[in-house]
Formats: sequence, structure tokens, C-alpha cells
Amino acid sequence: MTLDSITHTARRDHRCAFCGLTVQAGQQYVRAPVPGGGRLEKRAFHSKCYQGLARNIKNGGSA
Ligand SMILES: [Zn+2]
Repeated sequence: MTLDSITHTARRDHRCAFCGLTVQAGQQYVRAPVPGGGRLEKRAFHSKCYQGLARNIKNGGSA
């Protein structure tokens, strides 16, 4: 799974599941399951937030 394949342009506002701020319509955002989150429910993330989150998980980081 590449980041490109899960990056979308928001057609309406979403709430980033990482930082809690709004992903505004027209912005690029990532739609993906929460890494390490057990659930398969997909959430919206800012691209930068998702990259940071994925990196943390990969490092075995428990914030
Ligand atoms: Zn965010």
C-alpha cells in the first residue's frame, strides 16, 4: 500500500483522527485504518499527521 493510493482530495470537511483539527474541503488527506488501532474502521488524517503516525508505529513507539 503506497501513500499515494490512500491520499484523496477532500470533497467536504473531515476531522483528522490524529490531531483533531479539520481537514478542509479541497485539501489532500489520507483515508486509512488507524495504525495499530485494532479496528478496521477507516479514518481521515492530514497527510503529515498520517506520516508521523505511521512512522511512530513502525518504530514500535508507544507515544
Ligand atoms: Zn491532523
